[in-house]
Amino acid sequence: MRNVQIGRLFGIPIKLDATFLLVLPLFAYLIGSRIELIVGELDGLGRAVEPSLLTGPVLPWVLGLAAALGLFAGIVLHELGHSLTAMRYGVEIESITLWIFGGIARLSEFPEDWRQELRIAIAGPIVSVLVGIGCYAIYRLIPGGNGVLSAALLFVFGYLALMNVVLAVFNMLPGFPMDGGRVLRALLARNRPYAEATQTAAEVGKGVAVLMGLLGLLAFNIILIGLAFFVYIGASAEAQQTVMKAAFEGIRVDDIMTPLDDLETVTPDVSVNALLDRMLRQRHTGYPVVDGGQVVGMVTLSDLREVDEVERDAMQVADVMTRDLLTVERRADAMSAIQELSQHDVGRLLVTDRGSVVGLLSRTDVMTAFEVIQSRAAIPRIGTGGGAPEL
Ligand SMILES: [Zn+2]
Repeated sequence: MRNVQIGRLFGIPIKLDATFLLVLPLFAYLIGSRIELIVGELDGLGRAVEPSLLTGPVLPWVLGLAAALGLFAGIVLHELGHSLTAMRYGVEIESITLWIFGGIARLSEFPEDWRQELRIAIAGPIVSVLVGIGCYAIYRLIPGGNGVLSAALLFVFGYLALMNVVLAVFNMLPGFPMDGGRVLRALLARNRPYAEATQTAAEVGKGVAVLMGLLGLLAFNIILIGLAFFVYIGASAEAQQTVMKAAFEGIRVDDIMTPLDDLETVTPDVSVNALLDRMLRQRHTGYPVVDGGQVVGMVTLSDLREVDEVERDAMQVADVMTRDLLTVERRADAMSAIQELSQHDVGRLLVTDRGSVVGLLSRTDVMTAFEVIQSRAAIPRIGTGGGAPEL
């Protein structure tokens, strides 16, 4: 129960993360308790508001809540800007989620064509600027007067005009996972391999994160420190994913799997103790369980560990093995199998060919293959995969 879906826009599920429910009242409070300060800053936008009109036991909190809700509506529009642009390029949008640091549009994939990435990345900040301009237009059009209503509307729309532009500017900082990081990568990818562009953009992103963290420490700003951390992690993850993707470009599951003939297998009637002995001898911790030529399950060291020591002679592999197995087609790309491994947090996948098992793909297979590919590619091939840009 970390997410709640609150509705759909253009077919995209809009979700609230649990952390958002903390951050909304916090924002309402932060705005509501600083009305006078904010009014002072909004003076520069050209319309005078008398701060004494915006006091009272309830009004500041109503304004705080209205401004915070408006802010999050602006974030949803920003994410819709990314999402609708991505949908034009056939990318599926899994969801838009609001959380403690704003919004995330979850794309099923990110196009590696730099023009598409550039447009998708920049669409969010452009929408934010447009929302800011729209709020500013409303702010200019609100009838004057000494009424509380007019002062309240000026406050909320002036605040939203300013904050949406701030949001756009902040998002254009050149660090992953912010939009500016993607814009930077897209621009770099015009004349260099995608993986290299990612690496450079990620380094810049880490630099930005460190600066933000230092600034946050100096200013004792917890939100800034949190953001810096988030940017740093995002930059590293993005770089790692892209390097993997580039390395496994054009490689299929059956290129890196262990074929069934080379696999050590076990029958279901072997006792747990006997298999433990065998694991020690072969220094191998996972076996497909084969019964009459058919793979019927998988048994791993952790399955055996769960058996009480006194029962290890009586219990057999059949009693502890995993029966519902994750499989992957032998002709699938290696990268999709790797994503499958990490998504389900499992150590191995059975490789099938038209329903029958032909091999096994383990994390060890993947890591070994990755090391070999990297050393092989270190000569001229590095990063030629992963969507080399057309020039
Ligand atoms: Zn964005």
